[in-house]
Order: sequence, then C-alpha cells, then structure tokens
Amino acid sequence: MLPFKLIYSPDYYLPIGQHVFPAEKYRRIHDRLIESGVAGPDDFLTPEPASDQDVLLVHRPDYVQKLKTGTLSVREEMEMEIPYSPELVRAFWLAAGGSILAAQHALRDRVAFNIGGGFHHAFPDHGEGFCMIHDVAVAIRRMQRDNKIRTAMTVDCDVHHGNGTAAIFAGTRVPRDPLPSRPASTLGQPTLRNAHAGDVFTISLHQHNNYPMYKPLSSIDVDLPDGIGDDDYLAWLDNALSSGLRQFEPELICYIAGADPYREDQLGGLSLTIEGLKRRDELVFRVCSARNIPVMVTYAGGYARKVEDTVTIHCNTVAAARQVFGAAGS
Ligand SMILES: [Zn+2]
Repeated sequence: MLPFKLIYSPDYYLPIGQHVFPAEKYRRIHDRLIESGVAGPDDFLTPEPASDQDVLLVHRPDYVQKLKTGTLSVREEMEMEIPYSPELVRAFWLAAGGSILAAQHALRDRVAFNIGGGFHHAFPDHGEGFCMIHDVAVAIRRMQRDNKIRTAMTVDCDVHHGNGTAAIFAGTRVPRDPLPSRPASTLGQPTLRNAHAGDVFTISLHQHNNYPMYKPLSSIDVDLPDGIGDDDYLAWLDNALSSGLRQFEPELICYIAGADPYREDQLGGLSLTIEGLKRRDELVFRVCSARNIPVMVTYAGGYARKVEDTVTIHCNTVAAARQVFGAAGS
C-alpha cells in the first residue's frame, strides 16, 4: 500500500475520437500501476466532479455558461483543439474534482496524485491546446477559499509553456532582474525570465520554440532551447526551484508532470530520456520533502510515438514519489 493516494476515474477518458492526445492513457496508467505492483486497488480514490461554484473561482461566468449550454463559437472550439461535447465537459469537470481531491490529500499525506488533469493551457475565458478548464487553478483557488492554504507554487515541467497558469495567476507582477546564478550549460543558453508573484508563484520550464506562440509571464520562465538533454534540463530545474523557493514560501506545490519533454515525443522538441524524466520527478519530490512542502501531481501532456512510453513515464512519477516519500511500513 502506498503512503499516499492516487485519484482516478474511468470517466477521465476524453471522448475526442482519433487524436494526437492519447485519451486512453489514464486507464492504461491505472492498469499498469496495478499490474506492475507499484500500487494496489486500495491506493486509488474516485473523485466527484468539481461544482460549478468551484470552476467559477477561476473561470468567467459567460465562458462556463457557454460550456454548459454547448454555445461555444466555431472559433472558440477550434482554439480548444478538441471537439466539444457535453460528455467532454463532464470529463473536464471530473478532472478538476480530481485535482481538488488530490490537493486535499496532499495537504494531509504530503503528496497525492491526480492520475489526470494538468490542463495548463485553459484561460479564465477560453480553452486552448486540448484544455477546457484549468483543474490545477481550480484546486488552488478552492484550497484558498477553504482556508487550507494561503500560497501555492506551480512547477510546470510539461514541454509546453503554462500560458493559462501564467495568465490566471498574473496578479500584479513586475519583471525583475535576471536570476544571479545560472548552471553551466553545454547547449545554447536558455533564457530565464523572472517576475514578481502574487499569492501563487508560477514556474514553467518549457521549450521556447514550441506552442504556445505567445507566452504570458510566469513568475519564473525557463525558455529552453531545442534538443536539451537530461543533465542540462535537470540543472535548470534545480536552479528554478531553488530560485523560486528563495523568493517565495508556498504552502502547496502543484507539480505538472508532463511526459512530453521526452525525446520521442511527437509534439515536443527536447531530448530527455525516460530515465532522465524519472530523475526530474525525484528532484521535484526531494525538494518538496526536504522543505516539508505538500505536493500534488497532475499529468498534463504526453504524445510519445509509442503510447507505452507515455504510460511508463507517468507510472515512473508514482514510483519516484514512492522512493522519496517511502513505502508504507518501510
Ligand atoms: Zn504539453
């Protein structure tokens, strides 16, 4: 039995037909975790959908109304890049409920996973890039409303910039000077942008030459050059985490553990290995554990040529948490 909970529902499946987003990945992760003995059936909790009230903590009433009534414009649906249906709305509300439950359990057990979510391209008033609503932002705002936390930090390691996250939590940021310390890099120099944060500090490590074209300022943006590999990536992640935690004291870290920095990803242009991605997960968990900051995990993207690889990368994140936070009884 794991010393933390995994939030999952078969209804996380996104009804989007043939699509580059492998909608069945959630079920396959669930099944693989059990088959491989990493988790048992009792480690899983089933979420309830978020309430409209929860979703409205982040999203604009007119956008929520359009989603509930199926009245998005053609342009709005195209921008979302997934076909609208009432079933799809239910799946996203459920994913947001899963992130709320994961946040609650992370605050209790130090770590919890939503085996889904991480829809970091959703904005208050529209969806983008396979994301309808921003489950992580909804979970953060709900924890704040319930007075469970005052501050949070998002650590977004999906290969794509967390534009929705940055926009939602932009607050009253002003750009600051570049960070003083930079790790040695053998590849081209990443650009690091840094800005003041409100009550939620946002970190995004992403490939600069990739979607989204317009990248609103996060608290820390690490714009990585194409093709960066394990060691450089891990050095930049370490740097961003320590810089962020020097500036800000979060009561919850939301780790967006995208599988798409993988070298075989169809929508990514970085060169991380499966082993490197596991080291990435371990690094995030070790930092959270050492500083005693609860961490909730969501999965975001992953478009490996072989879906099996995406499943492996996501399952390894659970294994990394088990290594760092210890197995029950050990
Ligand atoms: Zn992505």
